[in-house]
Order: sequence, then C-alpha cells, then structure tokens
Amino acid sequence: MMDYNYLKKVGMTSNNDNKICQSCGKPLNKPEEYGKNADGSQNNDYCGYCFKDGTFTNPNITMEYMIDITAMLTASVLDISEKEAIEKTKITIPKLKRWQSK
Ligand SMILES: [Zn+2]
Repeated sequence: MMDYNYLKKVGMTSNNDNKICQSCGKPLNKPEEYGKNADGSQNNDYCGYCFKDGTFTNPNITMEYMIDITAMLTASVLDISEKEAIEKTKITIPKLKRWQSK
C-alpha cells in the first residue's frame, strides 16, 4: 500500500522548492521514490506509486478521485476533518502536471 507518512511531514502544504510527484503530490526526495520509464530510467515527474514501467499504475483515475483519496489519507494522518482535508487537496492536486492537460 501507499506510504503516506509524507503527509505528516509536509502537512499537505505545497512547497514549490521541493520536487513533488506531478500526479499525487508526494514529495520526491530519494531516487527510489521516483517512478520508472519503460526503459528502466528514472521518471522525474512522478512517484513510484503513480508511475511504473512507463505507464500510470492507475491510468483511468480522475482528478476528483485523486483529490478524494488523497484528502481521506490527509485527514487521518493530520487528524483534521475530511472537509478541511479536501480544501487542502483541492488547492494542491489541480496544480500538478498530470491534471493540467485536460
Ligand atoms: Zn504520485
């Protein structure tokens, strides 16, 4: 399952100085946290949970769903209400590259 300890660390506040996954907003600090391209090289945009072997692990996920699941996890990790968490993720997620093209 996904490691959402990062939510605790960053408090889901967006920090443009840090590299984050352009799909789910997970901070990318270590090389092993990055996704992999089809040729095995490191993908610099996405984390290993979202992107594997050149494709999204969940290609049909919608932005709304990503906001929902990220918000639920944020709520439990930060011990805030789900409504409050959705307010946070609604700001963060739509800014990410994966959700810009539509
Ligand atoms: Zn991700």
